[in-house]
Amino acid sequence: MSKNPYNWIEKSLTTIHRANWYRSVQTIQSLPGSRIKLDGRSLVNFASNDYLGLAGDDRLIEAAIEATREFGTGSSGSRLLSGHRQLHRDLELAIAQLKQTEDALVFSSGYLANLGTISAIVGSRDLILSDEYNHSSLKNGAKLSGAETIAYRHLDLKDLEDKLNLNRDKYRRCAIVSDSIFSMNGDICQVKELIKLAEKFDCMAIVDEAHATGVMGETGAGCVEYFGCSGKELIQIGTLSKALGSLGGYVAGSRLLIDFLRNRAPSWIYTTALSPADTGSAKRAIEIVKSEPQRRDRLWNNVKILKQKLINYPLLPSQSPIVCLGLNNPALALDLADKLKSEGIFAPAIRPPTVPKSRIRFSIMATHQPEEIEQLATIIKRFYQTSKQEN
Ligand SMILES: *Cc1c(COP(=O)(O)O)cnc(C)c1O
Repeated sequence: MSKNPYNWIEKSLTTIHRANWYRSVQTIQSLPGSRIKLDGRSLVNFASNDYLGLAGDDRLIEAAIEATREFGTGSSGSRLLSGHRQLHRDLELAIAQLKQTEDALVFSSGYLANLGTISAIVGSRDLILSDEYNHSSLKNGAKLSGAETIAYRHLDLKDLEDKLNLNRDKYRRCAIVSDSIFSMNGDICQVKELIKLAEKFDCMAIVDEAHATGVMGETGAGCVEYFGCSGKELIQIGTLSKALGSLGGYVAGSRLLIDFLRNRAPSWIYTTALSPADTGSAKRAIEIVKSEPQRRDRLWNNVKILKQKLINYPLLPSQSPIVCLGLNNPALALDLADKLKSEGIFAPAIRPPTVPKSRIRFSIMATHQPEEIEQLATIIKRFYQTSKQEN
């Protein structure tokens, strides 16, 4: 009898296909931006996290080239051994200044920042309270830490408080962990109330500002700034890869926290330092976030316009540039995504298991033109008219 221990892979893929859960990549053949070339066609892009339109900006490209010429393509080692450059430190100081924290630390990605930070600050004697819709990297960081993890209902701070009341005393340290803008919905966490609960129950608070940095708050520092919580002691995590148009992650907080992480976060210690190109372009992006608030104004104006146009359609609650249209099943979501694509709009269908309920997710950019938003709204309206007739 010859058994093949890899046979299960094909079976699993078949199951994924049957459930309409199958996913694959699509090749973009142009600079990132509000309009991209995909499969040879020009499409309006509502699938990008590049909220401010910086990932294709000449100034970031120049900064990346300059850093590459000066320091090479690779950092050639971990930060502690041989990979550290002044450029990394300059970027960390720029992040700390934007966030109004004592210090900051850059990781090779936001995912690694979350894994490394959470697993460093709590362990098996500790407790994590985690919003049920938190990003995968926060959930996996919690697993890696070995701490007891209890999920509370999405954005439900009453449920969080109940669970703290029931459980906090049984553990040594406790961390409350939440996305600030939830990436698959676009709704936002009440950061101020979350911090208050953390203070009341002697917990650390970790807020993941991945989608909020550059977008929320007067200076683009994120939801912590937006809710007037700058200067409070907490742990802010985020990415350089969304509104900042580069690649990498960061943690911002107290000098002691950052010093501790440099000594205890394995996903920072045992990995190669951020490349010079990514570091240089992220640093340039932070300067632009500060000096060009008009980009944020344009972004929020575009968000307002789209939400107004779709006011009679089943939008999920959102207070951010992520706007989702709820659909009853994955097949319908795929159908609408296909229709949008055939009419010149690129926006992803987000389906289980990523989210419980299928949806199309539109990410608005500062650089979208009014006609492009109009085009999107028109196609959606037509889709609902025809699907009503079919029923
Ligand atoms: C995108 C994202 C991350 C991961 O950041 P990367 O830099 O892309 O690895 C982490 N947390 C949240 C909430 C995100 O949306």
